[in-house]
Amino acid sequence: MKRLHQRDSEPPAHHAESPGRRALLARGAGVAAGLVGLAAAVPGRAQAAPIAPAAGTAQSNWRFCPKCYTMFFYGYADNGRCPAGGAHSAQGYNFIVPYGGPETPTAQSYWRFCPKCYSMHFEYYGPGPCPAGAGHTEQGFVFVLPHDVAATPTSQSNWRFCQKCFVLFFYGYPDNGHCAAGGAHSAQGFNFVIPHA
Ligand SMILES: [Zn+2]
Ligand SMILES: [Zn+2]
Ligand SMILES: [Zn+2]
Repeated sequence: MKRLHQRDSEPPAHHAESPGRRALLARGAGVAAGLVGLAAAVPGRAQAAPIAPAAGTAQSNWRFCPKCYTMFFYGYADNGRCPAGGAHSAQGYNFIVPYGGPETPTAQSYWRFCPKCYSMHFEYYGPGPCPAGAGHTEQGFVFVLPHDVAATPTSQSNWRFCQKCFVLFFYGYPDNGHCAAGGAHSAQGFNFVIPHA
C-alpha cells in the first residue's frame, strides 16, 4: 500500500474541476488520429516492451512515481524523466494496463507511452508538455483505461487525467505531485481504475 509522504507542497494551481469537459473526454472514440506511430520502433532499444508484438491484451510494469505521482513505465533501466527532477522512482503496485481494445462507456482509449519521459499520457488533445522538453510523443500500444467502475482487490481507483500536462496521475494525496506544466497536477474528467498484480 502507498504511504502518505509529507512534501513541501505547492498550492494546486487549478484544482477546480470542470465537469463540462468530462463529456469532451468521452468523445475520444472513433478518431483515427491516435493510431499514428503505433508500430514505430526505436532502434537500439533492447528492452522494447512498449512496442512488443501483440501478445496478450495488457502490459505490466507500469508504476506510481512518489516524486511526481505520474504513472510511468518501469521497463527500462533509466526510468525516464521526472518533472520533480531526475528520473522517476517506482513505488507500490505493479499495474497491468489493458491495451488495444475498443473504447466503451467505462473504458477510454488514446492513452499512450511517451518514450521521452516514460509517462502514461492522453494524446487526444495533442502533445502536453513533457518533462524531457517540448511535448510528449507516442510510441507502442494504444492503452484503453477502465474508469468509473468499482475498485477491487486487484485494481486501484483515483487515477486521473492532468489537464495541464495530460499524464495519468494518482489523485490520492492532498498535494497532487509535480506537473511538467509547473506546480502540481490538476485532475479532470474520469476516475480511472487501473488493474494491478
Ligand atoms: Zn516522477
Ligand atoms: Zn513525455
Ligand atoms: Zn500535470
